[in-house]
Amino acid sequence: MDYQMPITGTDIWYYYICKREVWLMKHQIAPDQEDESLDIGRFISETYYQRNKKEISIGNIVVDRVRQEDGQLVIGEVKKSSRYMKSAKMQLLYYLDTLRQMGIEAKGELLFPEERKKETVEWTEEAKQELKRAMEDIRRIARMPVPPASEKIHFCGKCAYREYCWAEE
Ligand code: SF4
Repeated sequence: MDYQMPITGTDIWYYYICKREVWLMKHQIAPDQEDESLDIGRFISETYYQRNKKEISIGNIVVDRVRQEDGQLVIGEVKKSSRYMKSAKMQLLYYLDTLRQMGIEAKGELLFPEERKKETVEWTEEAKQELKRAMEDIRRIARMPVPPASEKIHFCGKCAYREYCWAEE
């Protein structure tokens, strides 16, 4: 089989926010190290609800919750805000798909305790096709000789690459 560039859950998450960021991460361009308030790790831990000791690893997937419902495994991710819902859903779908390839059929749920909200994510053939297209597109973006142009979006204000993209402003 031909070599396929590995894709991570983080790639999927950023793909639905900023394609330029996907390129920068895939090319291991280091974000502005001076800007401590905006680094990726900090942003992720602020966006993702405080991970605690309950988190569970299945293969190389780490999720916040695992439970059983009617004999089916349900994996849960706890998030602070639903602002980046599409990213969160597709990342969870990626986990469900990875589990499926390991022979585990699971359902997913996104929990937003501060908003008293819950979203269910299910693996379907249609969702899988969407995920597949996203993964192919991430590989296409990563192969581009230069990154996609910067586009001002809400996320730029929090992005670790803010200086890199908008230094001349
Ligand atoms: S600063 Fe904005 S355009 Fe640049 S990588 Fe971040 S989100 Fe994308």
